[in-house]
Amino acid sequence: MIPGDTQIRISLGAIGANMDALQRLIGPDVAIMAVVKANGYGHGAAEIAPTLLRHGAVYLAVARMEEALPLWQAYPDAPLFVLGRTPDGQLEEAVKNRITLTVFSLQQALLLNEIAGKMGKTACIHLKVETGFNRLGTDNVEELAAILQLPHLYAEGIYSHLALLDRAHDEAQLQRLLNTADALEKTGHHFRYRHIADSISAVDYPDFRLNMVRPGAVLYGMKGFESNALQPRPALTFQTRITRLRDLSPGEGVGYDLAWQAARPSRIAALPVGYADGYPRCLGGKGYVTVRGVKCPLVGIMCMDQCVADVTDVPGVQEGDPVILYGDGTNNTLSIAEAASLAGTNKNELLARLSARPARIYED
Ligand SMILES: *Cc1c(COP(=O)(O)O)cnc(C)c1O
Repeated sequence: MIPGDTQIRISLGAIGANMDALQRLIGPDVAIMAVVKANGYGHGAAEIAPTLLRHGAVYLAVARMEEALPLWQAYPDAPLFVLGRTPDGQLEEAVKNRITLTVFSLQQALLLNEIAGKMGKTACIHLKVETGFNRLGTDNVEELAAILQLPHLYAEGIYSHLALLDRAHDEAQLQRLLNTADALEKTGHHFRYRHIADSISAVDYPDFRLNMVRPGAVLYGMKGFESNALQPRPALTFQTRITRLRDLSPGEGVGYDLAWQAARPSRIAALPVGYADGYPRCLGGKGYVTVRGVKCPLVGIMCMDQCVADVTDVPGVQEGDPVILYGDGTNNTLSIAEAASLAGTNKNELLARLSARPARIYED
């Protein structure tokens, strides 16, 4: 199908360059597990996977099996990792498809061991250690040691996740992970990978890189870290075109409840994008779009499929003109960071909520 006017354009070149820049920063001895959950933070996990792998990703990580399966179908040889806890009913499918799982309970490990044994396979797992985030993982070293004894499991890695509260708390978490890994390795086991760093800590805390990092945001060009050692390039442009222009007299209103009324003779533009595309509804009346390099306020209440911008100040504006919804922040475009701040959320949420409806267009 020919794509409609509302599109998400993705620069594979930017994603590849972000991978390369990160790998240069962390050095060749640290592996990258590229996080592509939530459809690759809205960028299209299956479409960006080859770029990530070509630029050295050792794993592609998703949150749940539902995300892993379509990737496995598209790239049966790609190394896939599930970050969340996999429900027992999905374990067999994971073993069959050689998907590496996060495991942190002996009870689940026993079941996985039995399933893998029956299939004549070895299930590859990473142990998740509770170090103070208090979400997933265990701090029961005896249980972890018992998991290492199971014959049909291969504990390839051990990991944890940082709260990023402050340096002291993060250091304490790192130390707990290392202590646990060291204690377990006394039994003779060797973990091929130890990891704790997301994008922010991978860039800002060199000692936290161990021999694997798990970046998501930075690969998509989001800068949440302090360091200037890396300048990632945003990979995504969210854009549409003006559907219709209309001139209003002062006092005429727009949309539901006529929530916005023209204070001056105004030219308004209807845009075929709304909250069902993942464009935050709360940006109505607060955000702006960019037409011909001019910032145009969103006016009125955003609808599910459409919204309206005030284009009075755009010289020569025409129906069909391109409209930038999210850009890289240059040329008066709204960056994801600024949009997130206007919407009262974070950058990752804005990316993750981009829905399947806008066509994704991939460029080099
Ligand atoms: C999402 C996620 C990441 C990646 O986080 P970013 O902040 O996007 O780099 C890393 N590890 C785990 C466990 C995650 O859930």
